[in-house]
Parts: sequence; structure tokens; C-alpha cells
Amino acid sequence: MLVSTRHNPHSQPDLAGYNGAPRSNQVNTDLAAQNRLLKQRLADFMEEARNNENKLRRFQALELRMVGLNSLLEMIEAILHPDPSAISWDTVSLLLFDPEYEVQRILKDEGVKSSEIPELMFASTWEEVEALFPYSMFPTLGAYRSDKHSKLFNHARKRPASIALLPLVRYGRLIGSLNIGSFEADRFVRGVRTDFLEHFAAVLAICIENGINLERIKRQGLTDTLTAINNRRFFDQRIKEEVTNVERTGKPLSCLLLDVDYFKRVNDTYGHQVGDLVLREVAALIRAQLRGSDVLSRYGGEEFAALLGNAGAEEAEEVAERIRYAIAHHIFRPEDFDPFQVTISIGVATYAEPSAARVEAKAMADILIGHADRVLYEAKSSGRDRVICAGEINAGAENW
Ligand code: GH3
Ligand code: MG
Ligand code: MG
Repeated sequence: MLVSTRHNPHSQPDLAGYNGAPRSNQVNTDLAAQNRLLKQRLADFMEEARNNENKLRRFQALELRMVGLNSLLEMIEAILHPDPSAISWDTVSLLLFDPEYEVQRILKDEGVKSSEIPELMFASTWEEVEALFPYSMFPTLGAYRSDKHSKLFNHARKRPASIALLPLVRYGRLIGSLNIGSFEADRFVRGVRTDFLEHFAAVLAICIENGINLERIKRQGLTDTLTAINNRRFFDQRIKEEVTNVERTGKPLSCLLLDVDYFKRVNDTYGHQVGDLVLREVAALIRAQLRGSDVLSRYGGEEFAALLGNAGAEEAEEVAERIRYAIAHHIFRPEDFDPFQVTISIGVATYAEPSAARVEAKAMADILIGHADRVLYEAKSSGRDRVICAGEINAGAENW
């Protein structure tokens, strides 16, 4: 409060008047005190402005980083482990509303186990997130309460003393919450202004939503819309990785090429819609015979390709035979037509011995597919509905 300059004769004399000092002296003292106070206030304002500018710059740096990232996993890492020179949170966690387990599936696809990121939590019901912001969609600041907040800070090396929970909102709906904890009780107190935090939460919510959309697009681009299995683009990427894995781990890799027999006749007899149905069911029948970690993709019209990691020639032949059998015994039952059956031919090739000569992953992948294709052709020309194996290929002997 500023000191009043006006003297009220009816009020109690202040200390300056009481000790009998002349009135003009007292006015001078008042003015000097006021001057000191004003200077102090100005210094405080300047300090606060400097602090705010600093804070703004640090938040902006983190926001810019977030906006520039193009994978959801990187975004999550950036927010949970920010550059300590920029943002100094004692502990932080992120809760995401993930009712259809979509984000969890995305992270799994990226090879991340949820236990590897203990600061990341998921809510499958909206009530779990809403319970953190019962009265408004503004940040909740205040003392840490174990009954309410322990789940959010379970990972912390010690319990925070004060917390700031920032609602992440898109189009009026909560999509999650960023939870910041401080070991100092007065770092986050109820009633203080939260402009920076609100702004940051708004940017973060947009980034997370964009990140999820980006992953959706990436996945759509690698999935075949008819059969819902991966497409050839995905296969071409993965086979190079899998070939490199053989060289790294010494574990064999088998490649299956599968082609539906006389598929053109299915289209010609029943129409392409029934043809589509057959392709969907064939894809599901093949998938059912593979392990979760095996790669299956639609390679072309009625051709499929599979990669069996850590499977030698014998094991791959058994799997191929199981697939052939499952399809040959499946009865397709389209509406408006009599039930019918189809068969499939399969070529198998195995890469077990990394070649002594350095063969580039792409070239090695082409060699492996080339051999599978060669024996698939043999299977076709020798009567169809059969599996033929090229065995283990010897990349060193290839003439290319
Ligand atoms: P083969 O036993 O020698 O493999 O004979 P095929 O008739 O299966 O082989 P061909 O290559 O002559 O014919 C494949 C047919 O698959 C031709 C094409 O119209 C059809 N096809 C490709 N993609 C699709 C699709 O997405 N849906 C439908 N319904 N048919 C498709
Ligand atoms: Mg074909
Ligand atoms: Mg065919």
C-alpha cells in the first residue's frame, strides 16, 4: 500500500508528529518513505517482468520444440523429460484419456512398453480425468493430497508438496491432464495467476491431438483398406529391417509368398464383391496361423507376403502347410450364391546364414523375395494348392 500524503488533523498523530518534529520535516519524511516504497515497488515490478519474460521464453522454447516434433512418442518424451536448462519441474506426469486404447496401441507399435514410461498414464473412462477438474477446466493448483493425487505421482522419487494439474482440452472436451509437482509447498498455491500454464496447456493439447492424428495417418498409409492387414509399402520397409536383424542376431528369417489359385475365376463367377470377401477371409485365415510378431501384408491383388522372424526353413514350411490346409478346408459362404472353396499356392525361402560378403539390406531382401517367388511359380506350374520351399538361400553365391 502506498502511504497517504494527506494529513488528517482528527486522526491519531503518526510517529513522525508524535515525537515533536516540525511539520515540514514530517512531510519530507513521508515523501522520502513514499519514494523508497515506490522505488521498491518499481524494482519488484521490474524483477517480476524479468522473471516473466524468462519464463515466457522457456515455455516458448518448449512449445516450439513440441510443435516441431512429428511423432507422438517424441512429444511424450519431450514433455516428460524436458531440457532441465529450460524447464525445472521437480516431477511431472501425463494422463491421457484413451478410451479405445489407441494411444497405447500406437506406443506398442513403436516398440515401447508402458512400464518403460511410468510417468505416462491412461484413463479409459472420462470420469477419471474429469475428477481432477471437478469445478472448471482451468488449472488446479494447491497442496498435494495423497488421497487425490498419489496415482499421478507414484513414479516420483519423493512425494511433491504442491501440485499444478493442467487440463488438456480440445473442442471443450478433456483429452488428458499434465501434472506438475514441486517439492516446495509454496511453488503452486491456490489463487495465483496461471496464464503461462494455461497457454502452455492449450498448446500441449493441440500438439498431442496433432500427434495422434499424425500416427493415424502414418498407419493408414501402411495398411491395406480392403483386408486391414499391412500393405506392400510396410512390407518393403520391414523386410529390410528383418534382414538386418538376421545379420545382427544370427536368427533365421523366412519369407512366404502366397497367391490365391484361379482367383480370376472367383471374380468372373461371383463378381468382384465376392472376390473382395474372399480376399478379406483369406487374409484373416493366414493371419490366424502366424505369430503376433510375424509380418503379414497384402503384396498385390490376390498375393500376400509374410515374414516369419526366428523361423528356420523347416518351421516355415510347417507354417506354410498349415496355412494351405486352413484355406483349402475353408468354405466361403457369400450371400446369394452357393458355398464354394478356393486354394492357395505358397513359395517359401529362408535366410539363415548371414553372408560373409557384405550384401546391402535392400539387395538381400530382393534376393530372399526372388527365391520365394521362384518356388511359388513352381508351385503354380506343378498343379497349385501346394507349398514349395527354396530352403536356406546362400547370398554369397548370388550373381547380382
Ligand atoms: P493363378 O492361379 O495363376 O494365380 O491364377 P489367378 O486367376 O489367381 O491369377 P491372375 O493373376 O490371372 O488373376 C488375379 C485376379 O485378381 C485378377 C484381378 O482382377 C483380381 N484382383 C486383383 N485385386 C483384386 C481386388 O482387390 N478385388 C478383387 N475382387 N479382385 C482383385
Ligand atoms: Mg497373382
Ligand atoms: Mg492367383
